[in-house]
Amino acid sequence: MDVLARIRPIVAADGLLTGESVRERVIGWADSGPCQALAIVRPADTGEVSRVLAACFDAGQPVVPMGGLTGLVQGSVAGPGEIGLSLERMNRIEVVDARDRTMRVQAGATLQAVQDAAEHEGLMFALDLGARGSATVGGNAATNAGGNRVIRYGMMRELVLGLEAVLADGTVISSLNRMIKNNAGYDLKQLFIGSEGTLGVITRLVLRLRPLPLSHQTALLACTSFDQVTGLLGRLDALLGGAMSSYEVMWREFYELVTTPPAPGRGPLGADFPYYVIVEALGGDPSSDQARFEQGLATAGEEGRFADAAIATSQAQRDAIWALRDDVGRLFALGHPFVFDISLPIAEMEGYVADVHRALADRLPGERCFTFGHLGDGNLHFVVVGRAGPEARQTVEEAVYRPLAARQGSVSAEHGIGIEKRPWLSLSRSADEIALMRRLKHSLDPRGILNPGRVI
Ligand code: FAD
Repeated sequence: MDVLARIRPIVAADGLLTGESVRERVIGWADSGPCQALAIVRPADTGEVSRVLAACFDAGQPVVPMGGLTGLVQGSVAGPGEIGLSLERMNRIEVVDARDRTMRVQAGATLQAVQDAAEHEGLMFALDLGARGSATVGGNAATNAGGNRVIRYGMMRELVLGLEAVLADGTVISSLNRMIKNNAGYDLKQLFIGSEGTLGVITRLVLRLRPLPLSHQTALLACTSFDQVTGLLGRLDALLGGAMSSYEVMWREFYELVTTPPAPGRGPLGADFPYYVIVEALGGDPSSDQARFEQGLATAGEEGRFADAAIATSQAQRDAIWALRDDVGRLFALGHPFVFDISLPIAEMEGYVADVHRALADRLPGERCFTFGHLGDGNLHFVVVGRAGPEARQTVEEAVYRPLAARQGSVSAEHGIGIEKRPWLSLSRSADEIALMRRLKHSLDPRGILNPGRVI
């Protein structure tokens, strides 16, 4: 019996899509064209995922787990001959426990739905990123997503207390721990977090919640040198007493683009500074937090740590500042974009960015390079817009990735390796590390059916 005939009775009538119903589906946020998958399976619960995977394992059938398809390294793009396993029907918020400050949720729930459910109980799920409306918490865990508040709350690894995953052969590993402390043996959830669907399909998670902040303080600051940018980070963190949750930096080219028509945004500061920083702090005392924030900024200003500032005094102003940073879609409208997401020690950043810009100007004159990122986490994004095609890609990747090796940087800060960055993994991981990854992969998925060709 062929594998689709085995899968059909496991899932409901609309749980298996083939032919035209597959072609009309989008491939992903950054990839266009019809989906080429052999089929898309949409299980309703963990039991169905287990039985579908067992059938695929028996048949040696490649399977690509699919969340919200917002990943930017083609990890969830299912090709011909592959079955996409979409978690879209497994989107239930199962329990919010306000006393334990935890939430148990199915992996296909969107990040936005999780944030809203937490907020409804007066709590916060701290992960936040621009794709929140589509990205799923399963995908967030599979990629160990970071986002805008990592400097205070950590990445997804720190926000997941437990999870349930189904191995390639259908075995269900239920590790739905709810406690902050649990050192009983290996912390198995960490195997699946950040493994990009290559070691198992995450079906449910227990998330750690935090108190809902009662106040937000946001400012846009302008700096005249990179030394100012890095000095300001440590100084403000100290002055704000640990309340700082975001430190986002935009280089001038990016700021200019998102504040100049046809962009809808209007910057509260002129576009003539080399660097712009969004600082945000979260607090629990609305009556005094804003004053403390402004005092911290005033002290840093008196110390000459930035050149100009606009402090948001309303939610509308706060949203307008963040809308500038979130307007990354604008870059995609300029032409063919190559998108990068790297990290490196902050002390190395200025020299590195200069090297990349110089290499691009030498090798691909006229190309536009936009730089921005979660600088507080050592994470930078480049979007290089201009020529398309494999030759241009190779040249741009050489310019961005090669200088990272000597600086102990990483080719992926948060998006993962997927298909796109696989040729570059060895720049950031040693041969021994990659060999151990392969051993883990082989022991959990001996037939290599889960996300073949991704990561390693
Ligand atoms: P998908 O894109 O569907 O899948 C991503 C990978 O995870 C694939 O390899 C897939 O096979 C695997 N996978 C998905 N679900 C599961 C599952 N249940 N079990 C096992 N494997 C699974 N990322 C950040 O980290 N920080 C950011 O600030 C950020 N900002 C973004 C802003 C925009 C506008 C966009 C488009 C993307 C951004 N991203 C960011 C990238 C992306 O949103 C994240 O990688 C997100 O975590 C992916 O979730 P998803 O549900 O869309 O996963």
